[in-house]
Amino acid sequence: MPRHNTAVCKDCLDTYILDQVRRAISDQRMFSLSDRVLVAVSGGKDSLVLWDILMRLGYQTAGLHIQQGIGDYSDHSHQKTVAFAQSRGAELIVHSLKEEEGAGVLELAELSNRAPCSACGVMKRYNFNKIALNGGFDVLATGHNLDDEAARLLGNILHWQDDYLAKQSPALPKTHEKLVKKVKPLYRLAEREITAYAIAHGIDYIIEECPMSIGSKLLIYKDALNRLEAESPGTKQFFYLGFLERQPPEAIAAADENLKACERCGQPTTAAICSYCRLVERVKIAHETL
Ligand code: AMP
Ligand code: ZN
Repeated sequence: MPRHNTAVCKDCLDTYILDQVRRAISDQRMFSLSDRVLVAVSGGKDSLVLWDILMRLGYQTAGLHIQQGIGDYSDHSHQKTVAFAQSRGAELIVHSLKEEEGAGVLELAELSNRAPCSACGVMKRYNFNKIALNGGFDVLATGHNLDDEAARLLGNILHWQDDYLAKQSPALPKTHEKLVKKVKPLYRLAEREITAYAIAHGIDYIIEECPMSIGSKLLIYKDALNRLEAESPGTKQFFYLGFLERQPPEAIAAADENLKACERCGQPTTAAICSYCRLVERVKIAHETL
């Protein structure tokens, strides 16, 4: 672990990883043992490791997997997630876009003239929130790690996305009765450390990246940060954790005054009809005209 100028054995890695997650949960007041946590699991290493750790720490969890319908990649992701849940006897909710929304990500993107990652983002955000809310969960947790958050921060700064910068936090409080709290308990851990944990614990995850993400801006920012990190270990941590220290807490906690209920589904949105409903309507129209 160059950023800590040390090397560790399996037991020390375990202690380190659990400590960092405990610290993230307590520093950011994410949740307590009495809360029900819905863990969004893609089948990748980060979210499976997150779920594994939260169960080991004694939290009440269930998994949520969204089947995106992106060919073999989505089938493999689904299989890895189901196998993991079965191996732990854990509850897993599976939501298939093809079955529930009538089309997978690629078709949704085509019908709405959106980039696939944008359509996928809309579907994931909406379903994460709605399924957590309807299931009575207190909080939704995702597997975003230090590399993800540092890369996102770099992108937001390069484009001076002030709104996104104000809201880029590992814990987004519940600011509306229909919005569930969202947390990222792995934000203190680097991708390499999470991979090491997955291997040490024999967690079988999907190694391939989503085929739609190849060449994405986020991967370019990650690559740039990895180069900086290689030259000067600790850069990513200094960058992202330093940002969090400087962030005014009231910006994150502020309720969004512009939110109103979507005319179709009632979920909070800034437009008359939310992006999710607009996307799903396009699918219905396209299917009706066929
Ligand atoms: P990504 O945007 O693919 O890097 O994923 C970030 C986080 O979102 C993951 O760590 C998961 O917690 C969650 N996630 C991504 N894809 C899915 C999915 N298909 N189903 C459920 N959760 C997902
Ligand atoms: Zn809606």
